[in-house]
Formats: sequence, C-alpha cells, structure tokens
Amino acid sequence: IEEEFDAIVIGAGMSGNAAAYTMASHGLKVLQLERGEYPGSKNVQGAIMYANMLEKIIPDFRDDAPLERHLVEQRLWVMDDTSHTGFHYRSDDFNEAKPNRYTIIRAQFDKWFSRKVREAGATVLCETTVTELVRDAKGKVIGVRTDRAGGAIYADVVVLAEGVSGLLGTRAGLREMPKPETVALAVKEMHFLPEEVIEQRFGLKGDEGCVIEAVGTISRGMAGLGFLYTNKESISLGIGCLVSDFATAMESPYALLDALKNHPSIRPLIAGSEVKEYAAHLIPEGGHKAIPQLFGDGWVVVGDAAQLNNAVHREGSNLAMTSGRIAAEAIVQVKSRNNPMTKRNLTLYKAMLDKSFVVKDLRKYKDIPALLHTNSSNFFTTYPQLISQAAQNFMRVDGTPKIEKEKATTAAFIKARSRWGLVSDAVRLAFAWR
Ligand code: FAD
Repeated sequence: IEEEFDAIVIGAGMSGNAAAYTMASHGLKVLQLERGEYPGSKNVQGAIMYANMLEKIIPDFRDDAPLERHLVEQRLWVMDDTSHTGFHYRSDDFNEAKPNRYTIIRAQFDKWFSRKVREAGATVLCETTVTELVRDAKGKVIGVRTDRAGGAIYADVVVLAEGVSGLLGTRAGLREMPKPETVALAVKEMHFLPEEVIEQRFGLKGDEGCVIEAVGTISRGMAGLGFLYTNKESISLGIGCLVSDFATAMESPYALLDALKNHPSIRPLIAGSEVKEYAAHLIPEGGHKAIPQLFGDGWVVVGDAAQLNNAVHREGSNLAMTSGRIAAEAIVQVKSRNNPMTKRNLTLYKAMLDKSFVVKDLRKYKDIPALLHTNSSNFFTTYPQLISQAAQNFMRVDGTPKIEKEKATTAAFIKARSRWGLVSDAVRLAFAWR
C-alpha cells in the first residue's frame, strides 16, 4: 500500500471498529490493520455488550448483529466453598422492544462489526501486524510499518486500538507497560448445552438471558471475579484475578476455573455440557489512576490500550466503543477545520472523553482498585465467609433463640475483623465508593 490515509487504526476490536466506522462514515480515508486471521479471532470477552453505546455508532445494529440473548436477570453472588448468598435482579421491563444488554460471542460479533466498517468505506487488512510507529524528525507519528512486505504506510493520525496487551504504544514510549497490579488475567470456557436446557435451568424463554457474577473464596484470597453468562446454546464460564496476586499466591488460573466449575452452586448449571473453547486474556483494572497519556502529535489511544475499563461494574466493551467513537469524532472535527493532527488539536479527544460517562465513572471509582488490591484477603475471603455463615445461621431453624443467633453473628464478625477493623473497612469502602 503506497497511498496515504487520513487515519490508520491499529486493531479491529471494539474500540478500533468504533473508531474506524465513525471516521469512515464521515468520509475520512481510513485504513484498519488487524493482526488476527479475522476480526475477533484474538479477542476475548465474557461477554455482555451494552446496546446504548453501540446504538450511538450503528443505531439499527439489531437488524443484523449476531446477538445471543438479551439480559432480563443479573445475579450477584458472594460465595464461600459450599454456598452462595445472592442478590438477584430480574425484571420483565428488560423484555423491551430495544433491549439494553445482550450476551455476544466476540468472534462472531467482531466479524459483523468489521463488515460494517468495510461497508462504511474503510480498508480493512487482517493478518497484518503493525510492528512500529513511524515518526518525523520532530517526533510526530506520521504512519506505521507492518510485517508485510513494503515500506511505511502514512496517515495524518494513528489510532492505537491495540488492546491491553498491545506493545506498540509502550515500545514507542507513548505510555508505560501496564503494571501487574493494574491488570487481571481471566480464563474462560465455553460450555455447550441445548438451548432448551439453558432456558430451563435459568428460567428463561425465547432469547432472554441471565448472567451471574461472583466474588468470594473462589478467588482464593486474590482480588478477582467469577462470571457465568448464558448464550443461545452455550454458557461462558470464567474467572479472573490480578496478575500481581497470581504471582504472589502462586495460583494457577486454570486450577481456579476448575474449582469454580466444581463448586456446588455452579456444577448443576453446567452439568452435561461439552466444553469446546478455552481462552485466556488480560483485563485492564487499574481504573482512573492507570489511564495513560491519551493523545499526542499524530496519535490517540483508545479502549483497553488506554486502560479504559470499569472493573467495579465489569464494563469494558462499552468504554472501548465510546472512546473509539469519541476519538474519531474529535479527529473528524480537527480535520473538518483543516487543522493538523497535533497534540494541541487532539486535546479535543480528551476534553470530549472527560465529559463522557467513561471518565466520570472511572473517576468515581478511582480509589477502589487500590483498596481491593491491598485488602484482598478481607474482601474476597473473610467477608464472603462471614456473610455465608450469617446467612446460614439466619436460615437454619434449630431451636436456638434468634437473639442468640444475632449475637453469634455479631461476635463472628468482631472476632474475624475486630470492631475497629469493621469500622475502618466500612469507612474506607464508603469513601472509595462515593
Ligand atoms: P481488544 O478487543 O483487545 O482488541 C484489540 C485488537 O488489536 C485485537 O483484535 C488485536 O488482535 C489487535 N492488535 C493488537 N496489537 C496489534 C498490532 N500490533 N497490529 C495489528 N493488530 C493488533 N467487557 C464488557 O463490556 N462486558 C463483558 O462482559 C466483558 N467480559 C470480559 C471477559 C473477559 C474474560 C475479558 C478478558 C474481557 C472482558 N471484557 C468485558 C472487556 C472487553 O473485552 C474489553 O474491554 C474490550 O474487548 C476492549 O476492546 P479493545 O478494542 O480496546 O481491545
């Protein structure tokens, strides 16, 4: 390719597709490069996809996007080794004409999104790894080099949508390598079951879906989360913990997933299933404090590569799509004024992103990652065990007077954490959450 482009997008995941689609549909000449055999072949997600953020890019996506189930029920579980205490929310209101959240399978979804990008006019090249950013004498990024034969490819601006493990930005010194305490390693399996079995087990009809998200002793004292998402004919089951915790605890992710599969609350839900896929991937979890420099002369960074991931609400794809769209809209605006893609002009991207839910949400929870990381054994083992014991004590009818049960529960909490510890945990959590 010897042409010059208005923009080169590196990566065809959620953020890259959102950016490429938005720029191409505004008439920019866009080249998108993806190292995978096809878009989605390298990508892993649970996965819940949030309709509102995709609607802002492709309003009629429901007409042909490969969607699995729309969510009518979400279960949040606190688990110990034999039980779970749950908060479940299910509503028929979610059976709306335009549902709000869907489960998706990324390999299919990313292919569909990429087709939309091509239809919007962008050139998409797969099996092409960008190996280097090209800069001019002043350091401005002016293009890329790839592993294909031929020289550099030039563009006014390069959008780095290379995901959390992308190395280009770090190699080029545009941002630091994510630290082990700011990324989680998640492993996931796809358990295949007949559609009617899934519907019966989760009380679903049609394309209704249910998800379970769980914390507790399943992460063996590490800061982590387990998840189970219903697709049409499969269940995605996985667990992820901070990389730094895996390193110190010397735990293996697969052993954790194995234990989760055999947990008495999970085992019946996947019984008889056939496992056809296994995947592992990183998730950025450092929150607001881990967001790197987002723009510079000739470049912007979006999605997971920019650590834009809300670990508290388990949202990533929507932040990726939104940051990709906003970066593209900023680039379109700079271009429409015939201004160069300098750091000064691309400040617009950050200004626009700051006003969006992406940065507002991450700022709100800015202290949560550090709090959970430094107190993981309390939040992920001690409290889940205490909650389970309290629930069982409350449910079990054995002739013990209720007043004694309440005293025993209070005593168990104080014994495990002390009065001061309980107050301090509550205050720190409340401050971090506000
Ligand atoms: P990616 O989707 O990772 O895409 C990056 C792309 O860049 C890849 O296609 C890669 O091949 C390509 N690439 C990288 N380097 C190069 C290069 N040098 N040259 C060319 N191409 C390159 N989010 C949710 O919203 N809901 C969920 O339920 C959810 N569950 C998750 C469960 C798991 C197990 C994991 C790992 C993540 C989950 N996420 C979830 C997060 C979500 O998957 C990410 O936030 C989202 O995929 C980020 O999109 P992205 O485009 O920034 O990065």
